Amino acid sequence: MPTTIKNRELDFSAFAPGAVSEYATQVCLACIFDIFTKQLGLAPRTAYSEIKRHSPGVEELTAPQAARPYFDSEEKNPRCPYCNSAKRWHARFDTYRIEGGKTTDAARRALLKLLPKSEEQFQIIETKSDRRALLFEWFETMGRNLDFEDDGWLLEATRAFLERREPKTNWTEVFEGLRMVRRSQRLEEGWERDRDRLFLAPALYNDVLLVQYLVSRSHKHGGRTFEGRLTLIELVRRLRYGGHLDAQGITERDQFEVLEKLVEHLAGGEGAVKLYYIVDRRDFLEKVKTVYARYAT
Ligand SMILES: [Zn+2]
Repeated sequence: MPTTIKNRELDFSAFAPGAVSEYATQVCLACIFDIFTKQLGLAPRTAYSEIKRHSPGVEELTAPQAARPYFDSEEKNPRCPYCNSAKRWHARFDTYRIEGGKTTDAARRALLKLLPKSEEQFQIIETKSDRRALLFEWFETMGRNLDFEDDGWLLEATRAFLERREPKTNWTEVFEGLRMVRRSQRLEEGWERDRDRLFLAPALYNDVLLVQYLVSRSHKHGGRTFEGRLTLIELVRRLRYGGHLDAQGITERDQFEVLEKLVEHLAGGEGAVKLYYIVDRRDFLEKVKTVYARYAT
């Protein structure tokens, strides 16, 4: 039965924006049926029941570069890059990753309880990671999604970081109409909005510079920040003279060791994090059925 898009969407409003990541990938059913019927020589009916059970792994669902039979496309009517089949042969997997922890456990359990289970419409995959790895993954994702040609990314990166640091605040509202972010001369901690400017306490402002540096450093030489383009030496010097390193108890002299310590601090220490992937298989199950109907006739 057709359902509206709205009904199909999962409700993540109980989670802080930084706690849930979304991934989408297309899979070509023509390619899959081909493999099962032509290469493996299965009858369409057998192929159908095999394919229906197909549950991709985290790698396949979240890889930045998809591999056959998976592909990514922003187009409205994409063609399969491998066999050129049209859209009606494609299915979509939506994957949501929730970071485990005190702030998400209750909401996650409530959400999982609501999911239909009769036909394995959803698949839950649990994995483990650690804070540092998650932070770097976050930098990478942000780096891929930001447009570095336009200076607006500096604000976007700031906002993404603040959402992560202080998930309870409504940052959409705070950033509405915002034009500038400045280091505050009087705040000891936190932030304050004044007309179209956002003032950050020095420690927070310095963390933002570090985030901007880490997100952008692979793209051009050095990293780009609110304070202009900085090499690692310049960034470390700035943080040292600003008292930021002392405040964090960082006594190392070597710039790379200092960076390691800064990253550890930014990540919120070391430690394992549980990850929960919810794979939405509904579109896949429906499409497999219609494609099979076409195959069998
Ligand atoms: Zn294909």
